[in-house]
Parts: sequence; structure tokens; C-alpha cells
Amino acid sequence: MKKPLIAGNWKMYTDLTEARKLAIGIKNKVVNVKEVEIVLCPPFVNLLAVYEIIKDTNIKLGAQNLYFEKYGAYTGEINGEMLLGVGCSYVIIGHSERRQYFKESDELLNKKLKAALRVGLTPIFCIGETLEEREKNITEQVIEKQVKEGFKDISKEEMQKIVIAYEPVWAIGTGKTATPQQAQEVHKFIRELITKLYNEKIALEQIILYGGSVKPDNIKGLMAEKDIDGALVGGASLKIDDFVKIIKFYE
Ligand code: PEP
Repeated sequence: MKKPLIAGNWKMYTDLTEARKLAIGIKNKVVNVKEVEIVLCPPFVNLLAVYEIIKDTNIKLGAQNLYFEKYGAYTGEINGEMLLGVGCSYVIIGHSERRQYFKESDELLNKKLKAALRVGLTPIFCIGETLEEREKNITEQVIEKQVKEGFKDISKEEMQKIVIAYEPVWAIGTGKTATPQQAQEVHKFIRELITKLYNEKIALEQIILYGGSVKPDNIKGLMAEKDIDGALVGGASLKIDDFVKIIKFYE
């Protein structure tokens, strides 16, 4: 039985003091939650501080990015081994802000995905169309390309260790959420694609998160959809009460 997953992407927010305060506030309110896998993704420099707060609890730690190389002369980069060393078990790969502002290509993201799997981190692999692409009616083509190129040479065994996040770019940080039906349509398409590329069993077990302006007042509707298995939450994950309400969507 799949466990819903709710991950908070803190983006480039929180200094050390704020990160500690946020982690403690969330922890105090969700320590007894068994129904949901909870992941916090603070900025790199706050990973260890957050880990010290959440270790030995039901809350997992995730990073927002990694570089695919092992140790080496790559100034400013962080590898998967380093993330493991500070307590991470998840890593976000291919967030639309990385694709858009840092020009991360499908080919690069495929390398990052393999690097995460190599060290045993669970990748949260993000895909999604822009507003322009949706208006041109090419959402499915865009998703198919991102999946096929992103998961190039990923084996069946590896596929079972990956979490996918469908994040329509037009809904991220904009306050515009995809309706549950719009999200469900694309989630269903992704699951069918995984069936074609892998098999039905893998597709059925695949965790597919929705991301894009998830809030306490829309999470229930989204989670009621058959193919939505959780959420990747940006803005609302920075507010203790909002994020806790999202985590406890089932109440
Ligand atoms: C995100 O950062 O992945 C995200 C979905 O952001 P927001 O919830 O703020 O739209």
C-alpha cells in the first residue's frame, strides 16, 4: 500500500535561525503522524541543523539539488555523498526553477538522477509544462519528452525508487492551482506512460506528487484524485500551521 508523501520545498528561504524555528514548529505538530511520509527540503546550508532537529523522528530530510559528479574540482557544487552525510534521504531534481533559471537540460537531469540513485538517495524528479505549452495543447508531448529523456537508461529496479512530481510551471508560486481534474488528467497520463515504458505493476506503485500552489484549502480535493499520491509544497511549507494542515489532509 502506497503511503502519501508530502514534501516541503523551502527554496532559497530561511536563514539558520528561521530554519531551526520552522523545523521545530513542524516537528512538534506532526510527530505522531503515521499516515503520511513527511519530507523537509531546506537550503543546503541549513540541512544539518534541520537534521539535528528531525533525526529519529518520522520526518525525513531532502535537498533541493545535487551535482552528478563524485568528489572533484567543481567549485560551488554539492554531491550526493555529501547530502547523505548530513542526513538526507531525498533530493529534488529538475525543479522548474532549476530548468528555467539555471538552464538544466533533460540530459543533465538524467545524470543527476543516476547520481542520486547511485548513493541511495530517493529522487523527487520534477516535470511539468509552461503556460505557453499548455495553451498550445502540447502538455502531453512536453511531459513525455521530460520522462523519456529524464529516465533514459533507468532500469525497472531503479524506477521503483523514484518519486515523480508533476508541477505545472504556471501553477508554481503563482497562486494558480491546477484544478484536481486538470492535475488528475496529467497524473493519469504519466502513469500510463510509466506502464508503457516499464510495466503496469511499477506504474501502479509509482508515487506521483502534485505541486503548484498547494494550500490547506485545496489539498483535500487534490488528494481525492485517484492518481495523486501526495504533494510537493513550496510557499505554504514555510508556514507551520499551513504545512501541518496540508500534512494532515486526511483528518
Ligand atoms: C514548488 O516549489 O515546488 C512549488 C510547488 O511551489 P508553490 O507551492 O509555492 O507553488
